[in-house]
Order: sequence, then C-alpha cells, then structure tokens
Amino acid sequence: MTYRIEVDADLCSGYGNCVVAAPDVFDLDPGTNLAIVKPGRPLLADDAALREAEADCPARAIRLTRR
Ligand code: SF4
Repeated sequence: MTYRIEVDADLCSGYGNCVVAAPDVFDLDPGTNLAIVKPGRPLLADDAALREAEADCPARAIRLTRR
C-alpha cells in the first residue's frame, strides 16, 4: 500500500514521536520545532514505520491518505 504523507502544522505540538518511529521520513523543523516530511523524501511510501508514526502521534497531526 502507498500513502500520501501530510503533517497538519495546526495540530502538531512537536512531541517528536513521529521522528522516533520513522526517522527516515519525519524530522523536526529547527525553526518551528514542528514535524516536517524530510525534503527529498517521496510523498508515497509503503512502510510499517510510517503507520506506526501515525498511530503514535498524540495530536493526530499525521495524515496518511491511501493512494
Ligand atoms: S508525533 Fe505528531 S505532534 Fe509530535 S512531532 Fe510528530 S506530527 Fe507533531
């Protein structure tokens, strides 16, 4: 399965759980301390860590849309 990956900056609180779960996909912006999808990372991925990151986000800020 592939997904479009989005982080809702209005919901993200910078907890960083997503970075721990999927460090290849997510990073914290040093300026805002909010999660971003790493530059250059394809927006489509089939990755168990990605789904774990979504589940671990306490703010429900990560949206994975099935493609
Ligand atoms: S786990 Fe959720 S709230 Fe925390 S940094 Fe990632 S997207 Fe933001």
